Amino acid sequence: MSTELNELFESNRRWAAEIEQREPGFFSRLIQQQTPQYLWIGCADSRVPANELVDLLPGELFVHRNIANVVVPSDLNALSVIQYAVDALKVRHIIVVGHSNCGGVKAALNNLRVGLADNWLRHIQDVRNTHRIFLERVPAARRVDALVELNVLEQARNVCRTTIVEDAWLRGQEVIIHGWVYGLHNGLLEDLRMTVAGIDDIEPAHARAVESVQRRYLGSSTTI
Ligand SMILES: [Zn+2]
Repeated sequence: MSTELNELFESNRRWAAEIEQREPGFFSRLIQQQTPQYLWIGCADSRVPANELVDLLPGELFVHRNIANVVVPSDLNALSVIQYAVDALKVRHIIVVGHSNCGGVKAALNNLRVGLADNWLRHIQDVRNTHRIFLERVPAARRVDALVELNVLEQARNVCRTTIVEDAWLRGQEVIIHGWVYGLHNGLLEDLRMTVAGIDDIEPAHARAVESVQRRYLGSSTTI
């Protein structure tokens, strides 16, 4: 690898040329405006590249990523992204995407010290503590993935509860919130079926989706 990272610039030139060849004028059209339909809130993990895995081009996906796809109402960064996406870009869908075997979730689950991020991961420990009885019944090897899914549902609910999304719904703007999980082992997305299109949907959709996670991981109809 060169010190100036020339290989990345070369790849970039190749990539831009390929797109331009496939769709002549692509970049000059994109200068005019971006009109993405989706806001993706995902993990910063390098194995979960948002645009690539849904095969979307520049201009089609607005993206916010952080460690373990956390959305908290004190995070000005996430809130600013959501506000711009909803109010200015008028995205129709906000998708919180977790992924299997997430290192951040694993650290939170097992109280592993990783550094400054420990403070960030406290939010996931809150989710862990809420679902502690269920998680203790899940076989140890599947516990991280169970918490990954519960974390997605919690963060999707947090998106729904932002003043930005609430206000959009109150003025009749269509914004639908989703919770998905990505499988590192097979490259596939799965819908956790927490789809929320209005304030009254939040709690029922969250409760249904949590029950469904519990059923899947406990392998029976038993729920907590
Ligand atoms: Zn992750």
